[in-house]
Amino acid sequence: MTTIQSIAIVGGTHGNELTGIHTVQALRNPQLRAIHCPIADEFATQYFIANPRATKAVTRYIDDDLNRQFTSQRLSAQHSDAYESGLAKMLNHTLGPIDAPEFDLVIDIHNTTSAMGPTLIVLADSPFYRNMAGYLALQMPEANILLEDEVEYSAHPYLCTLGKHGVMLELGAQPQGVSRSDIFEQCQAMLRHVLHYCQLNNHNKLPDIPAFSAYRLQETINFPCNTEQEINGLIHANLLDKDFEPVHHGDPIFTLFDGTDVLWRGEHTIYPHFINEAAYQQSQVAFATASKFIW
Ligand SMILES: [Zn+2]
Repeated sequence: MTTIQSIAIVGGTHGNELTGIHTVQALRNPQLRAIHCPIADEFATQYFIANPRATKAVTRYIDDDLNRQFTSQRLSAQHSDAYESGLAKMLNHTLGPIDAPEFDLVIDIHNTTSAMGPTLIVLADSPFYRNMAGYLALQMPEANILLEDEVEYSAHPYLCTLGKHGVMLELGAQPQGVSRSDIFEQCQAMLRHVLHYCQLNNHNKLPDIPAFSAYRLQETINFPCNTEQEINGLIHANLLDKDFEPVHHGDPIFTLFDGTDVLWRGEHTIYPHFINEAAYQQSQVAFATASKFIW
């Protein structure tokens, strides 16, 4: 059975996603921890701001996305000038190493500009993650569960994979560089539920977790472009702020600047999320798709 003794709670992996940063800053203070997340003291819990320079600059990263650095290949790669490449190697010492993790669980807190609500992202289909997700779904029905198991846990480039187990809390919609009190509260509630789950699981006191709905990542969809590779259309109004709502074959997904609708031509119903995520504009990603399943 999986037991969780040591936990790392991480914010500031992206320096302009303020909920995790404010959570870590608050929970480092014992008085504030007693208010927001007293159960954290039931574990050997440590708190980290992953990218201090980006956090100070209130920017996603200085040179490169920190949350894409944590594969064995990248961590063992030769010298790179990118600040986040060196930072990842340092975090691998502090939190990892990735092939012999120090922490039983790494909880990495993110924000999205998409209307994804409180979303738990898990990276593998195992009883531990399935029950965590199901416990959260029971306690917090408004939470969404997103399973990204298109590759193995260790093949993901995410910081949370420095733990034996790792999850991401993704909360939105919140603009970059902004911290909303309602989102902060949602984050504290999610954290408490995840930690309660670990405690119940450790003591073999977990209730039966009934089947629940979850989403499984499929692919990313780019914005439509002209021949100059400039975006020439926007997310269709029907899709705006409708993360995790179904889009069926023939439904409009984009409106081109000339007024033409672009329709979803896939055979299967999709559940778009990360719709209009600001951080993905650079790579012209409009949204990600998921399938819905009962877990
Ligand atoms: Zn992020």
